[in-house]
Amino acid sequence: MRNKLADVLIAKGIKDTKVLDAIRTVPRHLFMDSGFEGHAYQDKAFPIAADQTISQPYTVAFQTELLAIEQGHKVMEIGTGSGYQTAILLQLKAKVYTIERQLELFKKTNLFFKKMGYRPKKVIFGDGYKGLPELAPFDSIIVTAGAPEVPKALMSQLKVGGRLVIPVGVEEQIMTMYIRKSEKEFEKKELGAFRFVPLLEDKN
Ligand code: SAH
Repeated sequence: MRNKLADVLIAKGIKDTKVLDAIRTVPRHLFMDSGFEGHAYQDKAFPIAADQTISQPYTVAFQTELLAIEQGHKVMEIGTGSGYQTAILLQLKAKVYTIERQLELFKKTNLFFKKMGYRPKKVIFGDGYKGLPELAPFDSIIVTAGAPEVPKALMSQLKVGGRLVIPVGVEEQIMTMYIRKSEKEFEKKELGAFRFVPLLEDKN
């Protein structure tokens, strides 16, 4: 079923063989609530705890492809959710720092990683809007919730040459990639419309 899912993603334009191999390897059904397990290899988003969603496999593959991960890259993920995207990044041998603001999901997914032997560098309960200044800079940053605007903190936590992949918008989001060209310069690319649950800022 995973091989077939990878074929669907190829038909939709995903090319990176390492990303496709990760899709063929990570058991998505284990990241889902039992009621939905039977649908895990459809290219669809599904509900998880705390009114959130596990992203559509195409979206996961698309964002991951844009990150251009190399072995050992230090990656920050905002929105751990089910942990599926985290597992894909780990499969690509990235060092992953992942942040979740819903306590229920943070606890559940952290426990699940331990049970499964997935080893992100850190799973953090907190507000990803602020990023992780104490651990910056990162080779890449992926945001897996729809951001009304690009958090400035995230741009400043990228290495020169690094990439930030973030869906920007309220009703609908435009997948946006920033490549840091120098301390002060960023190249911006807009890469099509997607739909995500909102990135929420903790105001205190
Ligand atoms: N990568 C996840 C996507 C989950 S949906 C997966 O495929 O399962 C997006 C997640 O972002 C939700 O779990 C939501 O709680 C979380 N989120 C929203 N705003 C956030 C913020 N400011 N900081 C960290 N996580 C946030």
